Amino acid sequence: MKPFSQFFIFLVIVLATSYIDAFTRNDFSEDFLFGAATSAYQWEGAADEDGRTPSVWDTFSHSYDTGNGDVACDGYHQYKEDVKLMADMGLQAFRFSISWTRLIPNGRGPINPKGLLFYKNLIKELRGHGIEPHVTLYHYDLPQSLEDEYGGWINRKIIEDFTAFADVCFREFGDDVKLWTTINEATIFAIASYGEGVAPPGHCSPNKFINCSTGNSSTEPYLAGHNMLLAHASASKLYKLKYKIKQRGSIGLSIFAFGLSPYTNSKDDEIATQRAKAFLFGWMLKPLVFGDYPDEMKRTLGSRLPVFSEEESEQVKGSSDFVGIIHYTTFYVTNRASASIFPIMNQGFFKDMGVYMISAGNSSLFEWEATPWGLEGVLEHLKQSYNNPPIYILENGKPMKHDSMLQDIPRVEYIQGYIGAVLNAIKNGSDTRGYFVWSMIDVYELLSGYTTSFGMYYVNFSDPGRKRSPKLSASWYSGFLNGTIDVVSQDSTQLQSNFSASSSL
Ligand code: BGC
Repeated sequence: MKPFSQFFIFLVIVLATSYIDAFTRNDFSEDFLFGAATSAYQWEGAADEDGRTPSVWDTFSHSYDTGNGDVACDGYHQYKEDVKLMADMGLQAFRFSISWTRLIPNGRGPINPKGLLFYKNLIKELRGHGIEPHVTLYHYDLPQSLEDEYGGWINRKIIEDFTAFADVCFREFGDDVKLWTTINEATIFAIASYGEGVAPPGHCSPNKFINCSTGNSSTEPYLAGHNMLLAHASASKLYKLKYKIKQRGSIGLSIFAFGLSPYTNSKDDEIATQRAKAFLFGWMLKPLVFGDYPDEMKRTLGSRLPVFSEEESEQVKGSSDFVGIIHYTTFYVTNRASASIFPIMNQGFFKDMGVYMISAGNSSLFEWEATPWGLEGVLEHLKQSYNNPPIYILENGKPMKHDSMLQDIPRVEYIQGYIGAVLNAIKNGSDTRGYFVWSMIDVYELLSGYTTSFGMYYVNFSDPGRKRSPKLSASWYSGFLNGTIDVVSQDSTQLQSNFSASSSL
């Protein structure tokens, strides 16, 4: 690792902070939750230990050469150490997901006592350190047995199985869990997994870039998305009928939300941006808030878009106590038919949306430069168009080459810029209640395996012990949370001293 000159650090910080107003933790209400996130397959490892069976993510990762989550960060064995790191850092909340096949190995039926014990212990450890668990029920890891049996999310049978899985989670963990997300980034999950073939279970139409074993990119994303909405609504109904009064928690769905802004001020680009928002946000939010899909989607997709019965519409409407937002970057939108933002296919969702998207951060899919104004735009749009729902930013963070450096200054700039954007949005009336950095520590990454990482703790994946080392971002977040870092008055001396606190790779 090369040392940075003080001058360079100073310059970077001046540049980084010039577009945000000064703020501290105290500018947020006390009950605003600051946390960090991981997910089961990306963090736990112990893939075939103690009764866990394969999920579609195991199968998917083993069929590519991007590595896999067999060991990942070994969180299954090192959770106590990780919770200690979180506590030392001053985290108020930890977002993690439950591995369905660790808890219920066959997808339905008997509970695995060791899986149950692991999550009970993890939750107890978090609570013991005063850290609020935010639990995601589903994060890309469908039991392989259910995929094999009936095709997983493209079959309505998933609604019953998902609800039964949720029932076990509410019953077993609900006394200590107050925040539940049913499905992680349901929108991009449907697109990437059932249209583009780049995420598990890897379905897509035949094409010359990706060899999917099955799929139909022009229908499956919408079918899977529809079943996700129904499964979410069914789990939410169950929670409200059976658990909520006693457990007093909230349940929400999360969507992936790019910042979207017109490329020019032409009327055409404005309309294209509205269309992109209808497809990318309205697809799930309109049913959740108003009970039906956006007109733009109905018009374009015709019979490819499933239809809600009256009863389903009523059940979906109002089923999210909050909206979870996964946000990384922003795109300019122009009115031109386009290729996918996954630059590999030109079919399915992005073709249907019919706009051209240009990265506002001038960055590739794996770099994602900070564009905090884009998140502010998303929060304003949700406030205006979807009745200002309670919001948790469930993921936001910066990918960097895994072995790059512990003094991850670009990540610090990124995070502080976005926290500033959240504060601005709140001042403008957004009901945003929490912010989670992706990721708490380096994990097995969804699109890039172990080559890029988002963690505030470095994990040495070549070390059998998976040693963790704090990056500058960990010290920065900790300083921000305990009130010793004031974002704009923070200067090179402060960062330098944080940096010296971090060890080298
Ligand atoms: C996913 C994570 C993933 C992260 C970074 C999110 O959209 O929920 O699982 O690791 O993006 O790519």
